[in-house]
Amino acid sequence: MRKRLPLGAGQPSMSAVKLLEPVAPLIDLIYPPRCPLCGEGLAAQGGLCATCWQELAIPGEPACALCQRPFNEGIAAGTICAPCLAEPPRHDGIAAGTLYNDASRKLVLAFKHGRRIALAPLLARLVAAHLPPQVLEHGGEWLAVPVPLHRMRLWRRGFNQSALLAREIARLNGAEVLVDGLVRHKATPVLGGLGRKARARALSGAIAANPRHAGRINGAQVLLVDDVMTSGATSHACVTALKRAGARKVVVACFARVLDEALDHAR
Ligand SMILES: [Zn+2]
Ligand SMILES: [Zn+2]
Repeated sequence: MRKRLPLGAGQPSMSAVKLLEPVAPLIDLIYPPRCPLCGEGLAAQGGLCATCWQELAIPGEPACALCQRPFNEGIAAGTICAPCLAEPPRHDGIAAGTLYNDASRKLVLAFKHGRRIALAPLLARLVAAHLPPQVLEHGGEWLAVPVPLHRMRLWRRGFNQSALLAREIARLNGAEVLVDGLVRHKATPVLGGLGRKARARALSGAIAANPRHAGRINGAQVLLVDDVMTSGATSHACVTALKRAGARKVVVACFARVLDEALDHAR
């Protein structure tokens, strides 16, 4: 069974509601609430319309015990997927808010390139819904570290979308955010179309733990935050860098996870 989030998951968090309550009618008057995907009118700010919720592919059970890759029905709990068997992952689990499809792609594009940074709380809530209990319930013991952007790209875009997500997720579970816990020393080319070895080569030495935070990363439990997890090469480089710096655990949290199976759900 695919797990679907209740529609309420798209509503503002309690604190946001409190904060916005007195001005909400005013905001709604100036910016009538609209679905960020299709433009349909909504009753409240900060969510998607019912049709667009249905379009998102939400990962559920059964799933790989190591990387949470969703399986077809009827696979026993504790089963490990073929990629994890071939190469045991260095991370300690992947929490994906959605599987990458047309709808999640549009949300990411609006967030990243359309500068709809107000989407961050919505995306973060979807990710938080899939965090393992140890991260969600003991957030204070975790350090949220975003996948870093090279400074040239950061300068061009003006913000690191993964850092915005990390901040929102941390707000939901009480984790501490270390925005520059990782640094990207060289700009990496677009990895799409490269083979596994070429990706690894392109990334080798590109990402490292920030020496300024060595003391905080050593022994820490880290939530590595990414917007889209494609081949896993970038997150693998980040996990490797964090573990090399002494991180005890690294759980990867991403908004959209690209899986071949998920593309079947894409329209
Ligand atoms: Zn919609
Ligand atoms: Zn797996």
